[in-house]
Amino acid sequence: MKIHEFQAKQLLKQYGVPVPEGQAASTPAEVRDIASQLGRKVVIKGQVHSGGRGKAGAVKLADNPNDAEEIGKALLGKTLFFAQANSDLKINKLLVEEAVNIDKEIYVAITQDRARQRDVLIVSTKGGMDIEEVAHNNPADIANLYIDPLLGLPDYAARQVLFDANFDVAFINKTIPVLKALYAAYVGTDATLAEINPLVITKEGTVIAGDAKWDIDENSMFRHPEFAAFHDTAEEDPIETEAHRRGIQYVRLEGGDIGIIGNGAGLVMTTMDEVKRAGGKPADFLDIGGGAKAEAVTSSLEVVLSDPNVKGVLFNIFGGITRGDEVAKGIIAGVATLDVKVPIVIRLAGTRAAEGAELLKTTNLVPAETMQEAAAKIVELAYAAK
Ligand code: GDP
Ligand code: MN
Repeated sequence: MKIHEFQAKQLLKQYGVPVPEGQAASTPAEVRDIASQLGRKVVIKGQVHSGGRGKAGAVKLADNPNDAEEIGKALLGKTLFFAQANSDLKINKLLVEEAVNIDKEIYVAITQDRARQRDVLIVSTKGGMDIEEVAHNNPADIANLYIDPLLGLPDYAARQVLFDANFDVAFINKTIPVLKALYAAYVGTDATLAEINPLVITKEGTVIAGDAKWDIDENSMFRHPEFAAFHDTAEEDPIETEAHRRGIQYVRLEGGDIGIIGNGAGLVMTTMDEVKRAGGKPADFLDIGGGAKAEAVTSSLEVVLSDPNVKGVLFNIFGGITRGDEVAKGIIAGVATLDVKVPIVIRLAGTRAAEGAELLKTTNLVPAETMQEAAAKIVELAYAAK
């Protein structure tokens, strides 16, 4: 789960990473109030789930509360293009905080390195800019430390990675506790990404987080009830939000038009591959899970069909504990209530598949014997219609 910069900075502060003083605002008047409370030059930043806000024009400096309010008026409610997210995003909130006097911008991040099965701390003195660009053009400017989970991040390891990054020695001792606090925050919040770009060395010689990008492992939410408030449904895909509210495992895919429903993550992914191989573009990943009852099937179908791009739906069900006749009943019930305008192909195999197929005969749903046949059929029917 991605969270906003202002939320991530609250977390950083709790763990002892220095952050600028500031607050989030939803109206120009609030922007003005916060700026006048701070009583100094402020930076105003659009809160969207994307990086590259500076380039998109969503980060502005204001000398006084009047200017701050004007910037608030210009940015709030505005939709800008964010190249990093490759989409237009609407700005509903702004972070208003004291501007810092930047001397140096450092890149610092912690994330998972799956191949090494370690968390990795990444440091570069080429901060402020696109880290992917630095990695591509000047890989030697990036230092990595693979963190031993038993040791955590002791001083000597933090010192080593700063040396490896050719960090200004004058600031190493000041930066070590910041890296340690960042690691504690990363572990404590079950983050999968904790990125500070830039970590600012100010003209006054202090070290402070200028930005914060944070991604929290969704599977850890059960032990973080305090993060529920971080959900921003305005930033999330409305269909995904609705699916998750219904307890359905659903991921919407950009640019797709063939709805896919199956039982078991592996089977659903294989179905997506088959649809792609047959020349189709999968619109979603939906796993109805094991033992799915008719009601869950109807609900899943409704979710998939609520995507206006969907031109056809493919069910691929392998019956084990999920019974073919239950699934067939669910699809038939769903189709009866939903005013379905697109073709539906169904492949049933395994437990009670024959009974399921029998039920489907009375409908205009299209049966298929194998996954390959099902994929070919749905692609043909979906793209022939219209
Ligand atoms: P991002 O573009 O989404 O990564 O947003 P950032 O918060 O990193 O801001 C982008 C850039 O704006 C930074 O790299 C800085 O150069 C500049 N910036 C952000 N905050 C301040 C500030 O307080 N003072 C100054 N002078 N520049 C800032
Ligand atoms: Mn940044």
